[in-house]
Amino acid sequence: MTLEILRVGLDVPLNRLFDYLNNGFKAQVGSRVVVSFAGRHLVGVIVEMTNASDVALDKLKPVQHVFDDVVFDAHMFKLLKFCADYYHYPLGQAMISALPLRLRQIKPAVTRKSFVYQLISPINVDALPKRQIVLQRILQALQMNISQTEAQLAEISSGWRKAVAQLKELGCLQQTEVVAVKASLKSSNVEPTINAEQQQVIQSILNEAGHFKPWLLYGITGSGKTEVYIQILKTILSEKNAQALVLVPEINLTPQLETRFRSRLSEYPLVTLHSNLSESERLQSWQAANTGSAKIVIGTRLGVYTSMPNLKIIIIDEEHDGSYKQQDGMRYHARDVAIMRAKQLDVPIVMGTATPSLETWHLVKKQQYGLLRLKERAIENAQLPKIHCIDISKSPTENGLSPILIKAMRERLSRGEQSLLFINRRGYAPVMHCNACQWIASCMRCSARLVVHLGQKRLKCHHCGHEQKIPIQCPDCGNPDLRPIGQATQRLQQTLEALFPIARIARVDRDSVRNKDALTDLLTKVHNKEIDILVGTQMLAKGHDFPHLTLVGVIDTDTALFSSDFRASERLFSQLMQVSGRAGRAEILGEVLIQTAFPQHALFDALRAQDYESYADSLLDERSTMQFPPTTYFALLKAEASDYNQVLTFLQMAVNLARETSNEVTIYDPLRPQMERLKSMERGQLLLQAPSRQALQKLLRLWMPQLRSDKQASRIRWALDIDPLEF
Ligand code: ADP
Ligand code: ZN
Ligand code: ZN
Repeated sequence: MTLEILRVGLDVPLNRLFDYLNNGFKAQVGSRVVVSFAGRHLVGVIVEMTNASDVALDKLKPVQHVFDDVVFDAHMFKLLKFCADYYHYPLGQAMISALPLRLRQIKPAVTRKSFVYQLISPINVDALPKRQIVLQRILQALQMNISQTEAQLAEISSGWRKAVAQLKELGCLQQTEVVAVKASLKSSNVEPTINAEQQQVIQSILNEAGHFKPWLLYGITGSGKTEVYIQILKTILSEKNAQALVLVPEINLTPQLETRFRSRLSEYPLVTLHSNLSESERLQSWQAANTGSAKIVIGTRLGVYTSMPNLKIIIIDEEHDGSYKQQDGMRYHARDVAIMRAKQLDVPIVMGTATPSLETWHLVKKQQYGLLRLKERAIENAQLPKIHCIDISKSPTENGLSPILIKAMRERLSRGEQSLLFINRRGYAPVMHCNACQWIASCMRCSARLVVHLGQKRLKCHHCGHEQKIPIQCPDCGNPDLRPIGQATQRLQQTLEALFPIARIARVDRDSVRNKDALTDLLTKVHNKEIDILVGTQMLAKGHDFPHLTLVGVIDTDTALFSSDFRASERLFSQLMQVSGRAGRAEILGEVLIQTAFPQHALFDALRAQDYESYADSLLDERSTMQFPPTTYFALLKAEASDYNQVLTFLQMAVNLARETSNEVTIYDPLRPQMERLKSMERGQLLLQAPSRQALQKLLRLWMPQLRSDKQASRIRWALDIDPLEF
C-alpha cells in the first residue's frame, strides 16, 4: 500500500499546513478532517495529498476522521490562497473562517430543522405564571411581531426553547419549518419597462458576459440599478446551472432588495448569507450554494467566500460602503476579494453605486474598469431633490433645529407629506457635562465619552459596551445639575414631539430597530402614510423607497467636515447623497436642507450641483498630491497591550526591521490612534506607505515572518491591516 499523507489547513495562528497520515479513509482535496493537534481535536481542510513529508514518518499522526463532503473546490482554494498571501494571514485560519460555524465543529454537520413561530390564538398574559420572565418576554415578542425566528427568540433568552414548549402545550403557538432554499414569492412586483439608459447598460454588460470584466455602474439613487441587476441575472441565470453572487452592505437595512429579487427572479432558488441567520440556517444556505442547488446567493461581506461551483457573475451593490471591510481576523475587503474572484473565474463583476469609492473611480479613470452611467431617475417625472444649506452661524438653532427647517417641516405636515431628519448619532446626547467644574462623563476603559441614554437613565460607551447609571451628582464636585449636551436621535425625537404634538414620529436607529422584521414593519408604515416624521441614523439612508417623502433635514455634519480622517469627506459626501436620495422619489419634487456653519465648503457646492464626478476628481487630485490611497498603498501594523511601553517596544522593533528591509516603502514612526485606549488596552500603530502594491508586498513577505518569530510579538496583541480604511 502506498503511503497517503494529507496536508491539512487548521485554525491555528501558524503560517503553515500540517501533515497527517491517512489510514484508510476515502479522502479528497477540499474535504474536512478531524485531527489531533497539541492535545486537542480540530477540524481542518485537506489542501494537498502527497506521499512524502518533511516530518519523519514515525512522527506523523494518523488523521482521526475524514468527512465525505467537499467544502472547497480548486477555485475556492485559489481564492483563499490569494487572500492568505495578500493579507498575510495564515491559510488554515483563512480557510476555516470562511466556513459556517457548523462546518468548523467536530460533530457531523447535519442540517437541523429550523422553525419560525407565530401565535395562532390570543393568550391571556395574566393567566401565565408571573415569575417566568423568559416566558413573558417571549410572549411579548410574539405579540408584537407576526412571527419570530429561532435566532430572534434566542436573542431574547437562551432559555427560549422551554418557553416555546410551554406555549405549544397551551395550543396557541404555530411552528413552521424554515427552508433556506425557498421557492420564492409569486411575482407581486410588476415589471417596469426598461428605459433606454438601462437598456444600454444591460446590453453592454451582456455583450461581455463570457469573461472577466469589472464594471462600475454609476447611477444616481433611484436610477434603476437594482432593476438592471435583475435583468442581467435573468439572462445569465438562464444558462443551465449558472449561479450568481450578489453582495450587499447590510441585508437587514435593505429588506426590500431581497424581496424584489425573490419576487422578480422567482424561478431561481435564492439563499441569503449574513450574520443574522441562525447557525443552522447559515449552514443550509451555504450547503445549497455549495451543491449548486441555490442559484442566487445574496450575502454580506462574508458571502464573498461562499463556495459556488458554477458562479457566472458577481454583483456588488453600494460598492463604496465601508462595511465591506472586515475589521478583525483576516482584514479583507470583500469588494477587492470579489474582483479577484471574478478575475480568477473569468466572469464579469458589476459594482453599483451613486457615489463610487475613490479606489474604484481611480481605476475607472485608468480605464481598468468599464464605466456605465444611469443619469436619470427611473420613475417617470421623479427628479433629484433640490439641495440647500442653512447657515447656522446666521440662523442659530434651538435644540438642534433651525427655524427654517422647522418651517419646512410644518409645511410638509400640513400637506400630508413626510419628512426625514438625519443625524448620525444614536442615544439622547453625546456628552454629559457638569458646568460647575467642566467634568465630562467618559469611559473608564476607552478614550471616549459616554453617551447619554435618558430613557434608560444610563450612560453608555458605544465602543466597548460599558454602561452605568447616570450619576445624581457630579462625581468630581458634587454639583447635582448635570446637563446632557449636544444632539442625538432620542433628543431630537423629543424636541419634535414637543414642536409637533399631532405628528406621528418614528425613530430609526440601532436602539429602536433591532432586527429586519422591525425595520420592515416600520417601512410598511411609512409607505402607508402612517408616519409623518422619521428621525434616524444612516440606517435610514440605504436603498429604501419613500414615495411620500419630500423633505430631508440633515442636522449635524460639521464634525465630519473637519475630521482628521482622510476619507471623511468621501464618506460624508456619499452619506449625504444617499440620504438626500430618499426624497423626491415620486412625482413631488423633494427638498434637502443641510444645517451647517460652513455652507461655502466645496463639498456642499458639489452636493448642491449633484456633481459627484468633479468632486471625486478633485478629491483624487488631493489624494495624489498628499500621496494617499488610492494613488499610494498603505498597510497599518496595529498593536495593543495593557501597558503602552510594551506596545512601543514592539512597534519600535518593527520599525527598525522594516527600515532595514526596504528603502522603497516609507515607514513612519509609531503613533497612537485617535482612540488611544479601547477596552482597557493601550493602542499604538505603525503606518507603511508604498508607491505600489508590489513594493508593499515585497516588504511584507520578508517582514511578517520576522515579526511572527519575535519574542515581543507573542506578549502583546497585534495585527496587520492591508489597505486600511482608517488610521
Ligand atoms: P436604484 O437601485 O438605482 O436606487 P431602483 O432599481 O431601486 O433604483 O429603482 C428605483 C425605482 O424605480 C423603483 O421603484 C423601481 O421599481 C423603479 N424603476 C426602475 N426601473 C424602472 C423603469 N424602467 N421604469 C419605471 N420604473 C422603474
Ligand atoms: Zn462638577
Ligand atoms: Zn468604552
